[in-house]
Amino acid sequence: MKFKLKNENIASEFVAHIEKITGENAKRCYQCGNCTGGCPVSFKMDHGPCQIIRLMQMGQDEAVQEANSMWVCVGCMQCYSRCPQGVSAANIFEGLRQVVLRKGEDHQEIEDIPMPLLKGAPQQALVCGFRKFVS
Ligand code: SF4
Ligand code: SF4
Repeated sequence: MKFKLKNENIASEFVAHIEKITGENAKRCYQCGNCTGGCPVSFKMDHGPCQIIRLMQMGQDEAVQEANSMWVCVGCMQCYSRCPQGVSAANIFEGLRQVVLRKGEDHQEIEDIPMPLLKGAPQQALVCGFRKFVS
């Protein structure tokens, strides 16, 4: 039997867009909290993965976009592996980042990174970081 939420008719073009580009369905989430419980960095997020998805279900577009959660996510996929509903918060965060970056809003300035960190960081980490944070 498929789980059905009562609030499935909440209209939000933004949420519909995120669902379209990620292939995820936020309405499938029944808020068990497994994703946030297993997320290694949720303690640094304004809202954990399950809270972000709940905000999406409620059509709270601004709260979702203003939260630091999408930038803190490290893409480890732990949330997806623990989700009984097959929802990937990791994909949703990736979609959210894409939407912000495609507005031309960089989330990291290269010149703001301290030189000692630049010199010591693995090259791959820098490339991955800039792919994630810079439009
Ligand atoms: S992919 Fe992101 S949201 Fe999911 S568990 Fe890892 S860090 Fe947390
Ligand atoms: S694990 Fe899946 S069903 Fe549970 S809160 Fe997270 S996204 Fe929702």
